[in-house]
Amino acid sequence: MGSLQKLLKRNKVKAAYKACRDPEYFSRHANVHKPTYLWIGCVDSRVAAERIMDVEPGEILTFRNIANQCQPGESSIESVIELALEKFGIDQILVCGHYDCGGITQAVCGHGDSPLNSWVDPIRDLHSQFAKELDSLEKENKINTMSRINVAAQVAHLASHPVVKQCWEQGRKLEVHGVMFDTGTGDLLDLEISQSAPSTLEDSALLEKLATQAIAEPARA
Ligand SMILES: [Zn+2]
Repeated sequence: MGSLQKLLKRNKVKAAYKACRDPEYFSRHANVHKPTYLWIGCVDSRVAAERIMDVEPGEILTFRNIANQCQPGESSIESVIELALEKFGIDQILVCGHYDCGGITQAVCGHGDSPLNSWVDPIRDLHSQFAKELDSLEKENKINTMSRINVAAQVAHLASHPVVKQCWEQGRKLEVHGVMFDTGTGDLLDLEISQSAPSTLEDSALLEKLATQAIAEPARA
């Protein structure tokens, strides 16, 4: 049996199991899509939002790319922000980084001319910006710290985004959170850099402030 056939068979077994336990399971979700969370995460196959948080279909709008980036002006993130905030009225955005991230490793250690290297260029710039804090760390710690700095930078980008600011100016509730997934333990950790109102800081100062906060290891419950 080929790989696709194996997957199709697993799907059949899973769908039958779900329908057996709850006959309305699929029909309940068939015509309703009203997610309450936007998840911005990495493409890493270990970091799937629904599995990490054990949520039902329809609860989380997910957007994933290499190293969970939301670069200003990049068309895919711009369209997801429009969809999430203007169509669905989502009021919770989670940016999730993770430990042992290949995208972050590429940014810190990779070189050469390739689409992947170009994609992680903004993270390389962040690495240079925080070189003083990162240079003394051994490799694994450096990559994981850089992952947290990267999450903080994406939270700052979102907090500075015109559509997000407009929501806040209109008095809408909207929270932007930064979290890290520990692939070694399964823990989802709050970086405690959440934003829920326009910052009084310039965009670059907000990024520096959140990134500096995110350098510290997050608390574990
Ligand atoms: Zn990753």
